[in-house]
Amino acid sequence: MRQVIGVDIGGTAVKGLVIDETGAVWAEARRDTDARQGREAILGKLEALVRELLEVCPLVQAIGIASAGRVNTDTGQVVYATDNLQGWQGLHLAKWAADAFRLQAAADNDANAALLGEAWLGAGRGHQDLVMLTLGTGVGGAYMIHGILGRGIHWNGGEFGHSVLVPGGLPCNCGKQGCVEQYVSGSALLRLGLELTGRTYGHGAELMADARAGDSGALQVLERFAADLAVVLGNISVTFDPARIIIGGGVIHEREIWWPLLKNKLQDEGLSELLAAAELGNRAGCFGAAKLALERFGQLPAGS
Ligand code: BGC
Ligand code: ZN
Repeated sequence: MRQVIGVDIGGTAVKGLVIDETGAVWAEARRDTDARQGREAILGKLEALVRELLEVCPLVQAIGIASAGRVNTDTGQVVYATDNLQGWQGLHLAKWAADAFRLQAAADNDANAALLGEAWLGAGRGHQDLVMLTLGTGVGGAYMIHGILGRGIHWNGGEFGHSVLVPGGLPCNCGKQGCVEQYVSGSALLRLGLELTGRTYGHGAELMADARAGDSGALQVLERFAADLAVVLGNISVTFDPARIIIGGGVIHEREIWWPLLKNKLQDEGLSELLAAAELGNRAGCFGAAKLALERFGQLPAGS
């Protein structure tokens, strides 16, 4: 059974899995990070995590890496990254991993990887036309047409998080104003929470708990969040007309209040049936990164 590593570098954690070509998990590891600590600190955590996985599964021959930013999947280089990951731009991720671990290595954008994972083993199974949005520290996006993941000519395809929702709106880490990321990310929820309740939330779960308890400010936050997200999904749907729109990222773990609000808003456009929550949860990026490595270096054909 051929085993590969899939890792996902996020804003708050680096996660990794060892899986085989059936998708069975052989080992798992995680390190908390703070992306603002900078490049060397994150690479250090990544290195320790991969070494831990290799100790459990020494026969692994390839690694796939999912990272925020525009990633050139031909070369494995991060060609553009926002300040969410400081010092990341220009990094040759695949080469770094190949040298550090003596493994075959490939890299892709984290949301692209999440969609690869969900299409293979999760909410997108059995469908060829899919869109994915990941709501976490940032907002990631990806699309698949007739089974092929679109990445664009400048590796910028599907970056819905940096499409503009509010012209002249909040400044974004990418340098533009009013990007989707500033309104429907996990970080945006915390900012809205402060704005509408006056309370400083350290984690989305606290805000969700207040909403569950019936706090009107917290409910208003989720109402606004669902309304903005509905606009984003409406725009995406007329561009791609997908079979499923999959929502992933940390924000979906506590969705019992905002998910029905969102579905409701999408009903008029006939979109509520397309909506699906990522089944692989926040491990989707790891599965997809591993899938990339299997496609590139193993026996698994693309799109299987
Ligand atoms: C980045 C994307 C990434 C997303 C999720 C955004 O800020 O620009 O490339 O996919 O965050 O991590
Ligand atoms: Zn932006």
